[in-house]
Amino acid sequence: MNTVHKSLPQLKESDQPPFPDISSLWQATAEDGPKLSTLNRELQYDVAIIGGGYTGMSTARYLAAKGLSPVILEASRIGWGASGRNGGVVEGKYRVTLSDVANRFGLEASRRMYNLAHEAVDHVEELIDAYSITAANYQQNGTMRCAHHKTALATLVQENEWVRKTFGDTSTRVLDAGEMYHETGSRDFWGGILNSHGGTIHPLNFARGIARGLADCGVDIFEESPVVKIEHHSDGVKLYTLGGVINASQIVIATDAYTNITGATNAVTKTIVPFRSAMIATEPLDLAGVSTPLHDGRSYSETRRMMRWFRKNGNRLMYGGRGAFGKSDSESAFRALEAAMRKQFPQLENVKITHRWSGLVALTLDAVPHLGRLNARTTYAMGYNGLGVAMASNMGKYVAEVVTGGKPSLGMITEAELKSIPFYSFRAPGVRMVAGWYQLLDRLGY
Ligand SMILES: Cc1cc2nc3c(=O)[nH]c(=O)nc-3n(C[C@H](O)[C@H](O)[C@H](O)COP(=O)(O)OP(=O)(O)OC[C@H]3O[C@@H](n4cnc5c(N)ncnc54)[C@H](O)[C@@H]3O)c2cc1C
Repeated sequence: MNTVHKSLPQLKESDQPPFPDISSLWQATAEDGPKLSTLNRELQYDVAIIGGGYTGMSTARYLAAKGLSPVILEASRIGWGASGRNGGVVEGKYRVTLSDVANRFGLEASRRMYNLAHEAVDHVEELIDAYSITAANYQQNGTMRCAHHKTALATLVQENEWVRKTFGDTSTRVLDAGEMYHETGSRDFWGGILNSHGGTIHPLNFARGIARGLADCGVDIFEESPVVKIEHHSDGVKLYTLGGVINASQIVIATDAYTNITGATNAVTKTIVPFRSAMIATEPLDLAGVSTPLHDGRSYSETRRMMRWFRKNGNRLMYGGRGAFGKSDSESAFRALEAAMRKQFPQLENVKITHRWSGLVALTLDAVPHLGRLNARTTYAMGYNGLGVAMASNMGKYVAEVVTGGKPSLGMITEAELKSIPFYSFRAPGVRMVAGWYQLLDRLGY
């Protein structure tokens, strides 16, 4: 089939989703991606993947490896969602502790999730090697958890000990307050844990490099092709974009926190809460005549629930944390982030901020990602809770298994039932209320 479809849905111009430019450091320093076209005709594939981020692209890779023909439909440009604007921290972590998972779901579920987290970090290197993505600049200098309170440090050390004893993990080292000062140049931390497994990348170059690798292997990717309507028929599904139609046997929804940009994926919209996360980047520190002992290629994240994190990228400092709660960037949220950075690193008092941007992370009720089937023709994978660089770019392996009828066992990720967020329409005030509660717990160290 290769004809322009005669019965495209009648869409008004206002149905075209808004895609504001992202003024990120990544956007300013990225290599060009592959030249991709916009869908303007009717085509047939085995699997239509909605979303051109790490999850969608990883899924395409593993479906193609199984001999199927996948197509990726991206509403904007590859990596326009969280995959091209995140902090670039590569780590295998969940927002729940593995000891808690063991208590609630059994040791096997916990072990599966531990293995998956490790595998996901290793997989980043595998992908980079497979597609020669040197521009991703993967530096494996580890990730550091920084305890903002003595109670938080005790909890961190206890969990670390449990993981070490239970799974034989040897990749971590506990640091005291003096070592943390030596490491970070900040007196804010009671101690911390350095995990040597993981590091940092350039996330947009990583996304564009995967897209180029897929395109070179013959996988079709259409940009600026938002899926606006899905029809289920007895012999398959029809996905309508603004300019064309895809006929397929199966759909994969890989839209994470950007699920609501059109109504086509409404079936999963209410299972996640989009939460805005913001980032700032400084001018090169040597230009400003200052320095920090932070290692390039290592990431640092606080134990606060309302977490702040930082890393160096070359000679710039990048600092991230909670953004605004609204639909777009907020001046006051950026100012608060800047003030927090200067308080934590007083030597940066006069350093200029050159880039500021934000994006959405998808929170789930049980704080873990979800992978499963909605119906006989639809698979979803989403809800990385802000920890998707390694996890989402590896998830396609298991999505492809589910699409082809398999039942991978990934602990809570595949076992937990997909639940809608209760009182979804009150999510914005709800997120604010929870944020206030988290800030209080952070002050108390819990
Ligand atoms: C500011 C920020 C910092 C972060 N930092 C880190 C970090 O340092 N480390 C880490 O591990 N994780 C981090 N994350 C989280 C991580 O980036 C995400 O978990 C991950 O990128 C999710 O990938 P994805 O492919 O599932 O979703 P996305 O990359 O968000 O892709 C979803 C895509 O779906 C498209 N889409 C939506 N609806 C449609 C439709 N109807 N038709 C076609 N396309 C559609 C969107 O345009 C979007 O491009 C961060 C996130 C943000 C926002």
